[in-house]
Amino acid sequence: MQGFRLGPIDLGVSWKLLMSSAIKSLKFPSLPRVTCDRCWMATCGYFEERAKCCTIYPIIPNFLMGEIVERGQSEGAQDRVVQDWLRGGRMGPMFSETPPLLAQRYDKERYKDRKKVPACPLLGQDGRCTIYEQRPYACLAFQCSYPPNREIIAFWFGLSSYLIMLSYLVGEFLMEEMGMERAKYRELWQSLTDESEAWEADGLRMKASFASALWQGQDPEAFVRACFAYLVAHKDDLHLRIEVYRRRTLRERLPKLGRWTLEREQALARGWSAPVACAPASAFWAMVQKGEYVFFQDNDWTVGEVEGFLLFLHERMMAVYAENPSLAGE
Ligand code: SF4
Ligand code: SF4
Repeated sequence: MQGFRLGPIDLGVSWKLLMSSAIKSLKFPSLPRVTCDRCWMATCGYFEERAKCCTIYPIIPNFLMGEIVERGQSEGAQDRVVQDWLRGGRMGPMFSETPPLLAQRYDKERYKDRKKVPACPLLGQDGRCTIYEQRPYACLAFQCSYPPNREIIAFWFGLSSYLIMLSYLVGEFLMEEMGMERAKYRELWQSLTDESEAWEADGLRMKASFASALWQGQDPEAFVRACFAYLVAHKDDLHLRIEVYRRRTLRERLPKLGRWTLEREQALARGWSAPVACAPASAFWAMVQKGEYVFFQDNDWTVGEVEGFLLFLHERMMAVYAENPSLAGE
């Protein structure tokens, strides 16, 4: 199975399996190719040429980690994630965890001197991403390259936000499908008064006792491989499974948050069908118009509702291109 292309961006197999066919079949105008070799943000001095925007310590969900190990494009990257993350005590069952010492190093330099921020550990010597197809959501949308138009940016921001939602949702869903108790996982992190209690004194590796409790008896490498294999094995009804899981967890969560209504309960109980472009409530749309973009991972929407909103943002974006053809082009 191969990855695919969504407008100007290349995506790997996991993303192909997880996105709905309505999103995967979206059409785009002829958009300029992003040319990271001539990154204007590096040319203007905002980023340093050595790493450009690749100055993060990436959060990689379990299934993407599995895809890198199973079929990553570069042996070096596969060795690195196995060594540093999976055997090096920097991986949790839901996604990669950032060691406090590294988080401090990235944050400190980011506010002190952007040019000194360490490069992403998965950036190759040649300045290219060594996990390009499997890169996580933070690296996907190339927002640097779109015209400063609200509707266009809203769509790409919405797409990133949709991928973040899928990453967290599917990461959690897979934990449960693999026989882990997500409540136990959550309680462990919540039981800490200071996050550093989970890490060795060097701040780079999880304490063996904490990691062992977090992993609930599973082996990290075998686990992430199984997560990716699950997506492939269930490709025909994966989207439905994830939607059912989302609706079930919303039904558990909404009453606790005081946001349960009979109308919402009935909506959640309705069967899943392919998403259709749906305009958001006017207050919501006003937020987008003001540039306060939507964070799908923080709201109470079903996957289908998120996708419907994304289709709506796409229609708005395409209308802008139709009215202003000069915004597209090679
Ligand atoms: S994604 Fe954009 S900001 Fe990052 S290196 Fe490429 S052109 Fe530059
Ligand atoms: S994962 Fe790849 S694209 Fe993302 S920051 Fe690292 S090197 Fe850059």
